[in-house]
Amino acid sequence: MSIRTNENERFGSNLFHEKAMKQYISEGTLAVWRECVRTRTVLPEKIADDIADGMKRWALDKGATHYTHWFQPLNGETAEKHEGFLIPDGRDGFRMEFSRKELLQGEPDASSFPSGGLRSTFEARGYSAWDPTSYAFIKDKVLCIPTVFCTYSGEVLDKKTPLLRSGDALNRQAVRILRLLGDGQTESVTVNVGAEQEYFLIPKPLFQQREDLRLCGRTLFGADAPKKQELEDHYYGQIKPEITAFMQDLNEELWTLGICAKTEHNEVAPAQYEMAPFFSDANIANDQNQLTMEIMKRVADRHDLVCLLHEKPFAGVNGSGKHVNWSVGTDRGENLFSPGTTPADNTRFLLFLAAFIKGVDEYASLLRCSAAYAGNDQRLGGNEAPPAIISIFVGSELEAVIDSIIRDEPYVDQTDRFLTVGKDVLLQLSKDNTDRNRTSPVAFTGNKFEFRMPGSSQSIAMPVTYLNTILAQELKECADRLEGAEDRPQALRSLIREMLSEHRRILFNGNGYDQSWIAEAERRGLKNLRNTAETIPEFVNEKNVRLLTENGIYSLKEIESRNEIHLESYCGTTVIEARTLLEMIRKGIFGAVSAFLSSLGGDFYFEKELTKKAGSLGNDLLQAAEDLEEALAEYDAAADPEARLKIASEKLTARMAECRRIADLLEKIIDARFWPYPNYTQLMFTI
Ligand code: ADP
Ligand code: MG
Repeated sequence: MSIRTNENERFGSNLFHEKAMKQYISEGTLAVWRECVRTRTVLPEKIADDIADGMKRWALDKGATHYTHWFQPLNGETAEKHEGFLIPDGRDGFRMEFSRKELLQGEPDASSFPSGGLRSTFEARGYSAWDPTSYAFIKDKVLCIPTVFCTYSGEVLDKKTPLLRSGDALNRQAVRILRLLGDGQTESVTVNVGAEQEYFLIPKPLFQQREDLRLCGRTLFGADAPKKQELEDHYYGQIKPEITAFMQDLNEELWTLGICAKTEHNEVAPAQYEMAPFFSDANIANDQNQLTMEIMKRVADRHDLVCLLHEKPFAGVNGSGKHVNWSVGTDRGENLFSPGTTPADNTRFLLFLAAFIKGVDEYASLLRCSAAYAGNDQRLGGNEAPPAIISIFVGSELEAVIDSIIRDEPYVDQTDRFLTVGKDVLLQLSKDNTDRNRTSPVAFTGNKFEFRMPGSSQSIAMPVTYLNTILAQELKECADRLEGAEDRPQALRSLIREMLSEHRRILFNGNGYDQSWIAEAERRGLKNLRNTAETIPEFVNEKNVRLLTENGIYSLKEIESRNEIHLESYCGTTVIEARTLLEMIRKGIFGAVSAFLSSLGGDFYFEKELTKKAGSLGNDLLQAAEDLEEALAEYDAAADPEARLKIASEKLTARMAECRRIADLLEKIIDARFWPYPNYTQLMFTI
């Protein structure tokens, strides 16, 4: 099975894309379907019948035996419940059934998915409904139909619906703006997203020996390996054959699903890698990223490896992020964040840029929120990931343009051309200048923004939803102003200038890893929400709630439920880690210390010293474990969620850190024969 021998045929061969649809569905039906997707109207019954029938025949031809509605509940995973096509027909016969009803709607029991209180007030039943904007696909002989997921009374229980809603909101406002700028042709605007996925690969037998990796996805202790990433020899290094074999296998699987896996390379940390797909429409990019994560894990398993998607599997080396490359384009193929080829394009570019800058400044806490969870707390703010402070990098050239606009002076570029907003000369940005600041959470990279805060394990739905919504809101305010203006060109100029002047503070081209940035950001009044616990309350601040409800992203109830889930999931993760750590200390580390102590004789000075050292660290560890246990008991007894959040984020994390500190010291002196867990050298340097 090699895609290289027959690329075109294999690519997308498990995806019911337009080419496949054409073979199973009449052109007339497809035309109606396309129009319904474009205008977001309900499919006529007959059309849905025909599509269901065509989809079934395609799936059966591909060897599928089951179908499922495939959705994205609020736990960040994907969910599926398989139904066989086969049903009895008459006394001895059977037939394969899949009708319009099964295509359009499912009724999975919602009661065991996170609902943040929505469930207690409503029926347990949940509804899944076909999302015709994302193609169906086959995975393991199962026809998977991408769907949205909601409660009986319509409250949304998934991550896809808000994403779709935010795309609609942005489309409405962007088209409005384009009309005001004299563009009578663009009919719709879509968001393009390319999500770079970082991950670790480690040998499966070693993974299985560590409960922390199995239960929490990261090591909860582990002394530094003698070698980490100081030689910078892994990034872009030669890829080892075992890893190449994994990557080839992964690519082939992704390609059959129509996921255009494009870039692959070694990342900074030992055993760390990256895969970047070619960008696509945001909804599809989101579906594809969810699938990519799943398939990475499965392919790794076949290679006797384990793919770790956690943000920080190992302390002391880089963690994994998921850079979300994001841009907005028209149905005519124009990128609205590209400076373009005419001065009029430049004005449009500057308006979109200014609106985005303003939006990020206004709603920084919401963006921060979209990447705040326990796993990402291990990574953000370290010297490898963007700091927890939201700022935007635009590069020195664009910054100079912005400053000249703010000063109301023409901008003179290197070739002595002038740029005045809304008039004359062309702004052409040199690509190098906007490309390479790796320390910024939001970076302009030529014709798109790269949001670097999201972590490697998370769904990109929420970050993209908020980016879309923020821009939609700002464009709406711009359109309201421009529609009422008497002198529109003048109004446009002052609008751009005003937005840039008032929100200049969010631009930062310097080194985000530098400690001085924290003080500088504080001086500028930018928030430094250092961790999830500090961020959670910001989600429901008045401004964010207004933004999300007024743009139709969430209802108030949906906001409350998401807030509750956010909090519960943070606490849940932290508590599981605390319990796992305790168990490993009690069942594994204490025994190792004792065995080591018994193995030491007392005749030599070094033996006496080691006995003293290990014994005293063992005592310290006992005390630290008891303190952690006490905090866990306190957590269990706490009545309200806020109190639990406080205990989890302050006491549990601090006490886990203390346990870890001592365990790591012990690991360093105890004879490897007695240490019950694979160490960092084995985990990261075996392959
Ligand atoms: P980097 O140098 O940042 O590591 P990569 O090539 O790894 O760059 O990834 C860049 C990602 O951005 C890819 O997924 C690519 O398809 C995506 N991308 C490129 N252009 C756009 C665009 N206009 N809109 C959205 N995503 C884009
Ligand atoms: Mg990359």
